[in-house]
Amino acid sequence: MSKVMIIGAGGVGGVVAHKCAQVAEVFDEIVIASRTQSKCDAIAAQLSRPVTTAKVDADNVPELVELLNIEKPELVINVALPYQDLTIMDACLEAGVHYMDTANYEPLDTAKFEYKWQWAYQEKFEKAGLTALLGSGFDPGATNMFTAYIAKHYLDEIHYLDIIDVNGGDHGHPFATNFNPEINIREVSAECRHWENGEFVTTQPMSESKQFECPEGVGTYHIYRMYHEELESLTKHYPTIKKAQFWMSFSENYLKHLEVLVNVGMTGIEPIEFEGKEIVPLQFLKALLPEPSTLGPRTKGKTCIGCIVKGLKDGEEKTYYIYNICDHQECYQEVQSQAISYTTGVPAMIGAKMILENKWKKPGVWNIEQLDPDPFMEDMNKYGLPWKVVEL
Ligand code: NDP
Repeated sequence: MSKVMIIGAGGVGGVVAHKCAQVAEVFDEIVIASRTQSKCDAIAAQLSRPVTTAKVDADNVPELVELLNIEKPELVINVALPYQDLTIMDACLEAGVHYMDTANYEPLDTAKFEYKWQWAYQEKFEKAGLTALLGSGFDPGATNMFTAYIAKHYLDEIHYLDIIDVNGGDHGHPFATNFNPEINIREVSAECRHWENGEFVTTQPMSESKQFECPEGVGTYHIYRMYHEELESLTKHYPTIKKAQFWMSFSENYLKHLEVLVNVGMTGIEPIEFEGKEIVPLQFLKALLPEPSTLGPRTKGKTCIGCIVKGLKDGEEKTYYIYNICDHQECYQEVQSQAISYTTGVPAMIGAKMILENKWKKPGVWNIEQLDPDPFMEDMNKYGLPWKVVEL
């Protein structure tokens, strides 16, 4: 039985709180802390058992340490924004608390996802006897586990990896993002990078696309190649991979809006002066767009996220597709959230459970695929994200 602190009270934070509250035998006590305490209180009011809430600025290490010393959780689940990863890791080291997150650190002034900043904490966490688990959402997270599971049970060597993230859901807004708009738009407007023959190859954003037919009648969608952070850790930890690509589905409507917003400069992250005040165009745009946590009741349809993994088994070439399908409305019925936050929040709860149950407690900084996928995959089936493997 353990106490956890969830930092961040957005779409994902809400799901993590619901799922932790459902597993009382592991998550004995729950604290939800974020910049705006009323959002923590609103989540707390939805839960079936009492939790504590607190206000914290996660950019401020002394403030975080003070709260951690008062509450004394065993683990922090960081579902604030990627900008806060390092300050929360610093505070965890100072207060002697285990750490986990769902997205890698990104500096506020450069749209650049890289693990180097967090990997640099390896020795500090090891010396402190603390575990830091990186990327325990869906992608990264479940997709890394899918790859690790196929590597462990189905193939001797992985050669090709395609991670395919299809959101077949519709929220009815002309333009909205399914998770934090700032992070989402930074991600999709960035240059594309994929792994090929030992190096990352850079191409124009959204320049490569194809049709993909999802299984079980979810439908056929246009998917676009883009860079995603798990490509960096997976190609490092599976050096036999010759080519690794990440694909995501986008509607014509989303892309049309995004193109205009990029062209007029609304997605810029450099501050500009407006009527005597400095504003960041992308942060202003975020203020205009619907909050992802409000999309739950309106989103209908399914997500289908998985990995196509090709490689060798006993000298023979084999290809497997491992995936999960998740229904937006079913998620809403269960935890009052759409499937994007749900598919992120459930693996975050499971990653935390793995640490607290000592299955993954190991001093140091770990990408999720470095840990045993079996207990995690078992819990995916148990806690709302069942998966299937098919041979193609
Ligand atoms: P939201 O914008 O809905 O929520 C972010 C929360 O963090 C808000 O409650 C916000 O507070 C809080 N926050 C921001 N800055 C601070 C700060 N300085 N101090 C304290 N709290 C802060 O985002 P999501 O819930 O959609 O996403 C959460 C995280 O999950 C992100 O890092 C995102 O990248 C990641 N993610 C990962 C996915 C995966 O599959 N791996 C998929 C989707 C998301 P306030 O309300 O006051 O702004």
